[in-house]
Amino acid sequence: MNSANSFNLPAENDRQQISEGIDRLRQLTQLDVQNGWRSHPSDLSQIELDWQPQPICNLNDKAHIAWSKGGEILWFYQQFVLPESLKGYPLRGLTLRLALTWWAEVAEVYVNGQKVQEGDLFDHSARILLSPSASLGEIIAVTIRLVSPGHDDGALVRSRLIYESEYAAIDPGFVADELAVLQSYLEVFKPEKLGELAAAIQTIQWELINQRVLFDRSLQMLRDRLKGFSPDLKQHTIYLVGHAHLDMAWLWTVDETWKAAERTFNSVLNLQKDFPELTFCHSTPALYEWIEQNRPELFAQIQQQVQAGAWEIIGGMWIEPELNLISGEAIARQILYGQRYCQEKFGDINRVAWLPDSFGFCWQLPQLLKQGGIDYFVTQKLCWNDTTQFPYEIFEWRSPDGTQISSVMSAPIGEGIDPLKMAAYTWEWTTKTGKLNPLWLPGVGDHGGGPTRDMLEIARRWQTSPFFPNLEFTSAIEYLDLTATNPLPIWDDELYLEFHRGCYTTHADQKQQNRDCEKNLYQAELFASLATLVTGRSYPQKALETAWKKALFNQFHDILPGSSIAQVFVDADQEWQESDRICSKVIQESLEAIVQQILLPPPSHAQAKAIVVFNPSNWERSFICSQQIDGWKICDSQETTIPAIGYRTFWIIPDDKVNEIANYLELENQFLKVVIDPQTGNLSSIFDKINRREVLSAPGNQLQAFRDAGQYWDAWNIDPEYAKQPLLPVECLKIETCERGSFSNYQICVTRKIGDSTFKQIYLLEQDSSVLKIKNKIDWQERHVIVKAVFPLTIHADFATYEMPCGAIQRSSKPIAERNPREQAQWEVPALGWADLSSDDYGVSVLSDCKHGYDCQQNQIRLTLLRGSEFPDPEADRGVHTFTYAIYPHAKDWRSAQTVRQSCELNQSLRVVPLSFEELRSDRPDHQKFLPPISSFLDLQSKNLILTAFKQSEDDPEKFVLRCYECHGESAVFSLKSDLDLRINHPLDLLERFQDDSTRGLIEPWKIKSFSISQNSRSDTGS
Ligand SMILES: [Zn+2]
Repeated sequence: MNSANSFNLPAENDRQQISEGIDRLRQLTQLDVQNGWRSHPSDLSQIELDWQPQPICNLNDKAHIAWSKGGEILWFYQQFVLPESLKGYPLRGLTLRLALTWWAEVAEVYVNGQKVQEGDLFDHSARILLSPSASLGEIIAVTIRLVSPGHDDGALVRSRLIYESEYAAIDPGFVADELAVLQSYLEVFKPEKLGELAAAIQTIQWELINQRVLFDRSLQMLRDRLKGFSPDLKQHTIYLVGHAHLDMAWLWTVDETWKAAERTFNSVLNLQKDFPELTFCHSTPALYEWIEQNRPELFAQIQQQVQAGAWEIIGGMWIEPELNLISGEAIARQILYGQRYCQEKFGDINRVAWLPDSFGFCWQLPQLLKQGGIDYFVTQKLCWNDTTQFPYEIFEWRSPDGTQISSVMSAPIGEGIDPLKMAAYTWEWTTKTGKLNPLWLPGVGDHGGGPTRDMLEIARRWQTSPFFPNLEFTSAIEYLDLTATNPLPIWDDELYLEFHRGCYTTHADQKQQNRDCEKNLYQAELFASLATLVTGRSYPQKALETAWKKALFNQFHDILPGSSIAQVFVDADQEWQESDRICSKVIQESLEAIVQQILLPPPSHAQAKAIVVFNPSNWERSFICSQQIDGWKICDSQETTIPAIGYRTFWIIPDDKVNEIANYLELENQFLKVVIDPQTGNLSSIFDKINRREVLSAPGNQLQAFRDAGQYWDAWNIDPEYAKQPLLPVECLKIETCERGSFSNYQICVTRKIGDSTFKQIYLLEQDSSVLKIKNKIDWQERHVIVKAVFPLTIHADFATYEMPCGAIQRSSKPIAERNPREQAQWEVPALGWADLSSDDYGVSVLSDCKHGYDCQQNQIRLTLLRGSEFPDPEADRGVHTFTYAIYPHAKDWRSAQTVRQSCELNQSLRVVPLSFEELRSDRPDHQKFLPPISSFLDLQSKNLILTAFKQSEDDPEKFVLRCYECHGESAVFSLKSDLDLRINHPLDLLERFQDDSTRGLIEPWKIKSFSISQNSRSDTGS
């Protein structure tokens, strides 16, 4: 047995012989020149400088030449005098290239005084042609100007001279790479054959080294000897699609993105003339729209190439968005507007969701994508995980409703044509998936760029090699149709990115504006639709589409996450504000148009003023006058409920009643009694009067600050060690009752201090509410500090539930040591509007209007409030923040407690429209008014359906689209009750296409459903 084993096992000396042979071949045509550079720091013209006295650069332990960050310039110089031979191998007539890799914000390469190449942080590698035909004694001077990045030290990483033959012929370096590819194949699939390779390498006639023709012939004989392996390698085909990841903004502004896109697209079109095999895919309708409007000729060429099948539009969304922090409706609209644009301009919708770089993917994405006509989901981002390796390269990703989408973890982006890397990737792909053919995405990326001429030439050369997989350009969709075939393993969870956990919190202003825009867009569409239905006025479709697109653009995966330079946010703020302005105008005009049709009952009091209160939620809500209009009370009605998506009119009169507070440290109503600690400003008790229990196990709403530094990805990543670095306790400056009004006297204001930052927090307990609101006004000045609000609870639960787009997800709350590795990595997790910790009989939800980062334990909910990163924006989050979060204790679990509704109510206020007598009287005679004083426009008649949109149909102004989702993971029955005489036509998908209805109003758990709605009277009369 022993001897048989040792006979079959590849001997270590086989490997050594192979490596030595490969190295020796490489040394004949390749030379490391990293240690020959001279440098000079000042920004003189390189031509003027006498380089000889300048010192030779030292290499660091990585063999890099490094210098300091902050935009520091460093010039490099090296003169090459071409020798006759390398290690005896004659070089005359070979092509000489210099392969360079740098880490620099700006790179310029000059050969004999002529600039031949430019690059940057993303375009960081080049193979520079120094001589097309090397000759003895030829002198070539290379000068490089590099500028270090602002945030990181610069480096000249690698520099190597490479002599190559005509690509139709072989040379020692090329054969060395072929042997290395073959070795890597055998190591994985046929290790017992390594001895054969070693033996073959022994036949190289090294004694002929100084006779190039003869030596090359001996290499050819070696290749012939190894030809038997060729069919093994040729079983595999590496499919290629040119790619250029282009961030819409990041370390540059959107303005520069347009230029980068233009440059990239022109480069691809030019290369396609010389390399007709080149196919290229690119996402982002927002980008194509800019090109269409500003570079129509370029756009026409792209359209032509799309028609010809050489250019593939992918993506399926308006941009490549952040996908944890935006609403389900926003994802639906990314898809709707993205797909409509592609259909209109390129003749078809996209079937591939192309999201290589977003920072994690919510669990409802498969359902949303499938409803948008998308068949495949592709990313590569999970290879950035810091803790576990994602187990599948190709899988079915299943949403909680059961929808599945075929999904692929693609090859990394931003790669070139590197045969060794591609071969290793191929073997790994085959080992993991059992499939032979991977997809490779050559092309410089992040800042655009795409494939280079050099990449395409190398690809052509390797296409001819018998010792390399076939290379074939294709399209992403063709590849996926061919490869993503069942049966595939199923992934039944979110795709959590174990990295970039700070992006739930960084640049809080962007998160707040996103939430504001989303809720205003919802109300603008809702009330505009209702106004159209009620009054027949025209629907502001164009304006709303513009407002949506501005918000959707800002949801890009480096804007909303807060990971861009400062100027990006200055620009983004203008777009948020413009979207907000459009929506506010639409809402106001729509509500006024409706109000003018309301026939009011006579006032019961001479001084009374009329108000109409609108409820944007699809369930009945309670109106407490004083919460909305301080100093007024309702004079005509005891009934204060506002019907679902409806309104009620009230007559109100001034109220001079002032309630005295007995104890300025306590808040109390019929549900809760809340006590504030006079020393700390923390909550020392929240007592649930109905359920007769204390909610807190230790002081609540403690502010905990920690040092949060030491990660290269500063804006993106929370320091994993932050919990070990608590900062000094918070200092309580004062506690006072504040802004006392007639009814709203249940407010206690606590002012506290962390470092140089002031936290003003108002505890607010409203009448008829078991939600304790905490309103914040924070002047935040800290750098590299994270601050969290903590609620220790008298609850014990092994998991917490978090809101995600159109759903909820459970994640472990067990102690870290008791979690599996994947759960351990989830030490900071995203939520949309709420998180909840519930045991069997009791639970507590924390609601928030724009905070998304949480970490929960079995008996504690902790909400991340602010960070202070310095890269890429040194001033990120410095300044004043206003936001609200709330604690909601409840019996049973979050479903019974209607936490989803409570969170919506925190976010979507009732709308109060005041009416003056003049308006009421002058507008139109009463007999023309037809709306009653109270009305409900849309009632879905289900406790677990949440309306996410009511809008005019994109294509038919007589029709409206109603979208809702089931929010409890239980079935629901959808039946529409409306005072507007509305009719359900049929279900739709997200693209508003007709869907068969077999469900008869039954909505399955977690389903997102859209319906076509029309008004009986309108369609009957044809008006
Ligand atoms: Zn990106």
